[in-house]
Amino acid sequence: MKNRKRILVTGGAGFIGSHLCERLLKEGHDVISLDNFFTGTKENILPFMDNPYFESVRHDITHQYFIEVDWIFNLACPASPIHYQFNPIKTLKTNILGTLNMLGLAKRVKARILHASTSEVYGDPKMHPQKEEYWGNVNPIGLRSCYDEGKRAAETLMMDYKREQNVDSKIVRIFNTYGPKMRFDDGRVVSNFIVQALKGDNITVYGDGSQTRSFCYVDDLVEVMMRMMKKEDFPGPVNTGNPDEFTVMELAQKIIEMTGSKSKIDFKELPADDPVRRKPDISLAKEKLDWEPKVKLEEGLKATINYFDQWLAV
Ligand code: NAD
Ligand code: UDP
Repeated sequence: MKNRKRILVTGGAGFIGSHLCERLLKEGHDVISLDNFFTGTKENILPFMDNPYFESVRHDITHQYFIEVDWIFNLACPASPIHYQFNPIKTLKTNILGTLNMLGLAKRVKARILHASTSEVYGDPKMHPQKEEYWGNVNPIGLRSCYDEGKRAAETLMMDYKREQNVDSKIVRIFNTYGPKMRFDDGRVVSNFIVQALKGDNITVYGDGSQTRSFCYVDDLVEVMMRMMKKEDFPGPVNTGNPDEFTVMELAQKIIEMTGSKSKIDFKELPADDPVRRKPDISLAKEKLDWEPKVKLEEGLKATINYFDQWLAV
């Protein structure tokens, strides 16, 4: 293929990373996944392991890595609270040293680099819905800080490498994303509720379930990441997420209904610093990338329920 690019995906064996690798391979690119398999799995990349244009490299991005590539997608970082809080110092190292290493590589080989940031940079937001110009309300010393502040520092690095070193860097701020290949045990709300409902276990709603989130199906996210990477002269940051907002209780009820489960709700303590409301303002993505999510919650949940149903059957 004439326009085949060599593309490095850090975190390529993770939930979003493996979907992204699949899409890049479908577009005919030469893809290298760099992953230490902390939360990622070989199962996620198994379907394309024998594709000659795919390579899986076991590597930790807190150490340098040298390779000639055209594009870098920097996704490596545990994303679920239980995993990023498992070793908070490591989470900070992945975000800061890892991003520095990838920016150093981008500078050396003149690659374009897109960083997977997060809605967590807004913390427990005082602006609703969240727009890119909002600076956020983040606790710098709490349990979520290793992730939130790590991601904020990574954004700073992305912008400073652009300003000081002319690196072609880009930032997407990803809001809650779900879909097949999420881990059954990563504690995130969609996977937790679906697995609990399918097993007939109690659904663990933290707090009173009135906190809100906006859930984006993974295919929609991969589409906007591709558009962002291809877009000239637009570094972002840009919000990428689905603006349809639901309370956690509404999500629980929807999943119980869709699975036909007999599960009951079990109210548990709300974790510290759990954001009360979250909903992206995606006007910038619409304007610059001509993107908005297409997959409705029911449709995305159906595919995700099917995935976990099959997964539990094995
Ligand atoms: P994930 O945990 O499934 O994937 C992260 C991948 O990074 C895993 O494969 C893991 O093994 C790998 N990894 C972690 N530390 C590493 C290191 N030091 N070196 C090499 N590899 C390492 O999570 P995900 O949901 O796929 O998230 C991917 C990215 O998107 C993350 O950067 C995350 O912060 C961001 N993000 C995700 C969401 C979401 O809702 N899923 C929301 C906001 C931001
Ligand atoms: N949550 C819940 N029960 C669970 C897992 C999560 O009520 O079993 C809540 C959690 O407290 C939060 C929301 O669901 O308010 C989303 O949690 P998740 O960990 O998926 O993502 P994040 O908090 O990072 O948005």
